[in-house]
Amino acid sequence: MNIKERLDRIKATLPEGVKLVAVSKFHPAERLQEAYDAGQRIFGESRPQEMTAKYEVLPKDICWHMIGHLQTNKVKYIAPFVSMISSVDSERLIEEIEKQAAKHNRTIDILLEVHVAQEESKSGWAKEELDAYLASGKLQTMEHVRVRGVMTIASNTDDEAIIRSDFERIRAIFEELKPQFGARFDTLSIGMSDDYPIALEYGSNMVRIGTAIFGAREY
Ligand SMILES: *Cc1c(COP(=O)(O)O)cnc(C)c1O
Repeated sequence: MNIKERLDRIKATLPEGVKLVAVSKFHPAERLQEAYDAGQRIFGESRPQEMTAKYEVLPKDICWHMIGHLQTNKVKYIAPFVSMISSVDSERLIEEIEKQAAKHNRTIDILLEVHVAQEESKSGWAKEELDAYLASGKLQTMEHVRVRGVMTIASNTDDEAIIRSDFERIRAIFEELKPQFGARFDTLSIGMSDDYPIALEYGSNMVRIGTAIFGAREY
């Protein structure tokens, strides 16, 4: 199957209103162009320099989503053009996004990445830390950061029960936080190539799919 066929096949399984982020990290710009020509407009990248290099050579109506852990000193590279940063996991990072977005007279959409997986190594806020930060009221003062929802990466396991419990937990967190933010807080980003059909059962409305579209990555 080529990229268009894979995209079509995946899109046919997504309910209306579910956004597809084509995770193109580590794949060359020509492969992204192929997906673009098949109608894909949202691409997810994990490294700022790589995203910037692709932004420069690809069509300007692409929405670029930063999905990987982002160091504060790299925000400046993507701030002029990034649509969404879905891996926001610290107060320092939010402050830097606010600063850089203001500099470019932009508002940047973000997702709060919450840690729910069983593994220690996974990134994201611990729920208690996030609660403490939200209670501080600092987020409400940010005028160039728009919080659109939450994101998580489920446990890396074949045990479906564990994946389901991770998704159950993030969905509950999404519902719990919603009233604090109102209507703009509308995005639950869960589901990757291997687990997105399960994520859809838990109300995902933004799936992030790489391998199933572009094939295996060569790191
Ligand atoms: C790489 C990555 C994906 C895509 O993973 P696949 O298994 O290739 O679909 C999704 N989300 C995040 C945060 C990633 O880093």
